[in-house]
Amino acid sequence: MRTGLPEFRLGSVLATSFTGTLSERHGEPVERIPTPQRLVDWLAVYGLAVDSCTPAQLELAKELREAIHAAATAAAIREALPAAAVAVINDRSVRGRAAAVLTPEGERRWRLSSPSAVEDALGVIADDAISIIAGERDGKLALCASPTCKAAFFDTSQSRTRKWCDMNTCGNRQKKARFNAKRTAS
Ligand SMILES: [Zn+2]
Repeated sequence: MRTGLPEFRLGSVLATSFTGTLSERHGEPVERIPTPQRLVDWLAVYGLAVDSCTPAQLELAKELREAIHAAATAAAIREALPAAAVAVINDRSVRGRAAAVLTPEGERRWRLSSPSAVEDALGVIADDAISIIAGERDGKLALCASPTCKAAFFDTSQSRTRKWCDMNTCGNRQKKARFNAKRTAS
């Protein structure tokens, strides 16, 4: 691990884990992919390994990230999807040329058209976002209950009552805050 750079928050849903690379949007935002290399590192974790990333490709990624965040937030609160966000998601989806391949073990892998094709990786993320925003997957889009976060996340819990985007950070912080408030009151 490189020192001094914020750690990743790794969720199980590709698109909302990607939007989670910027956290605390309503507090003091933490940028978890501040450099092209950090995006390369993040993509590798999700099976979308590329060998390089240019600053321009990082910009394409961040634009996609904020578009997914905007569209997923609107979907979670049942508002109309922002047209600009939809346009960016579609653009990244159309540009991507990754192919799904089946391994002999029966797992899905992504094959990018070239080792430097960050655009292909972004296409996979855009496609994942489309499937959850379109309501095609088993789960529900919701917003994190932390007032400084409000991240859109995909709730796949049986009861669909998950409150926080991430149990280890937002969930824990809320629990601690409540505990401290109780202690002060008593
Ligand atoms: Zn959160």
